Amino acid sequence: MVDYIPERFAPESADTEQEAQDWLDGKPGARRPPELLTRDVVARAIKAEVEAGRGSPKGGAFLDIASRRDAAFIKRKLPSMYHQFKELAEVDITAEAMQVGPTLHYFMGGIRVNAETQMTKVPGLFACGECAAGLHGANRLGGNSLSDLIVFGKLAGDGAKAYIDELSNSPKADDDQIKSIFRGGTSVLNRESGENPYVLHDELQDLMGQHVGIVRTGEELEQGIEKLGALKAKVANVKAHGASQYNPGWHEAIALNSLMITSEAVAKAAHMREESRGAHTRIDFEGERDEWLKYNVVIDRADDGSMRVRKEERPAPTGYLEEIARAKIDDLESGKVGASAPED
Ligand SMILES: Cc1cc2nc3c(=O)[nH]c(=O)nc-3n(C[C@H](O)[C@H](O)[C@H](O)COP(=O)(O)OP(=O)(O)OC[C@H]3O[C@@H](n4cnc5c(N)ncnc54)[C@H](O)[C@@H]3O)c2cc1C
Repeated sequence: MVDYIPERFAPESADTEQEAQDWLDGKPGARRPPELLTRDVVARAIKAEVEAGRGSPKGGAFLDIASRRDAAFIKRKLPSMYHQFKELAEVDITAEAMQVGPTLHYFMGGIRVNAETQMTKVPGLFACGECAAGLHGANRLGGNSLSDLIVFGKLAGDGAKAYIDELSNSPKADDDQIKSIFRGGTSVLNRESGENPYVLHDELQDLMGQHVGIVRTGEELEQGIEKLGALKAKVANVKAHGASQYNPGWHEAIALNSLMITSEAVAKAAHMREESRGAHTRIDFEGERDEWLKYNVVIDRADDGSMRVRKEERPAPTGYLEEIARAKIDDLESGKVGASAPED
C-alpha cells in the first residue's frame, strides 16, 4: 500500500512497513498504516496490483492480520468476521491470511428529498438512509451510514407525521395505477415462456462490474449503457415459474425492473461526470475538477418515459454550511468551525 498513498494523505500515512507496525504497537509519533486510508484508495490499489499480475489466486489481495495479532485478540475484536470466514470460506483468519477484493459496497447518490422533511417529489413519499439524497458526497467514510440512518430516519419520521397532521382527508390511491402495477407483476407469472430472472440478474451484475466498475472510462460506460438497453428487452420478457406465494423467483423478476433503472442511472451519471472524485474514478478524466464542485447530476423521467440526465448548478452554501464545506479536517475536529450552527 505504501506505493499508493495519495499526496493529500501522505503527511498522515506511514510510508514504511516498519512505521505501520510501530503504529500498531502504539509507538508515539508513528503514522497510521495506509491500509486504513479511505476505501476508494485501497480498492484502486488492489485493482492495480491484480492487473499487474500480483493478485492473490482468487483475484484479490491477501489481508494478513494473523501475523500481527494473537488469536484471542482477533476473536474478541472481530467475532463475526472470524465466524463468517470460518463457516463460509473455511479460512481461519487467526492462523492465515484472507483473500479480499473490492466490490460494490454503497450507493452514493439517491432519491431527491427535501432537506428538512425528507419528502420526495411524490407527495407523502419519504426517503431516508442509503436510498436517499447522497449526502456523503463522493466518498462515504466508515461508520457514517449508520449515523445517517439515525439522523435522517428521525427527520423522515417527523416529516411524515407533520404531513399526515396537515391532511384533511385520507389520500386516495389511483385505481388505474394500482391495476397497472398489479398486471405488471402477474404477467411475469402468467406468460407462457420467457427469460430466467436469475440468469438476467447475473448478466446485469457482470455488465455493471465490467463497464461501470471501480475504474471507468467514457468508452466503457457508453458500451455499458448500450448493453443495458439490450438487456431491457430481455427483462421485459422475464418469466417466473410457480404461484405467487413464497416465490423468490417471482420477487427476483419484479426486483429486476428497479435494478435496471438504478443501473442505468448510475451508468449515465458516471458518464456525465467528467472528473475523478472519491470512489468515482475516470481514467480519461483524472483528478478532481473545480468546475464539478458547482454541480449535481440530476436524473428524472422525461415526458416520453426515457431517462433524462442533466447537470444542475446547486446553490452555493451560505453561513455555517459554507464554513464547514471549506474547512480543513483539523479545524472541524478542534470545534473551531461550525460553532455557529443551530442547536437542532
Ligand atoms: C458489507 C457491508 C458492510 C458495511 N459496514 C458498514 C459499517 O461498518 N458502518 C456503516 O455505517 N455502514 C456500513 N455499511 C453500510 C450500511 O450497512 C448501509 O448503508 C445501511 O445498512 C443501509 O440501511 P437502509 O435502512 O438505508 O437500507 P437497507 O438496510 O438496505 O434496508 C432496506 C430494506 O428494504 C427492504 N426492501 C427492498 N425492497 C423492498 C420491497 N420492494 N418491499 C419491501 N421491502 C423491500 C430490504 O430487504 C431491506 O431490508 C456496510 C454495508 C455493507 C454492504
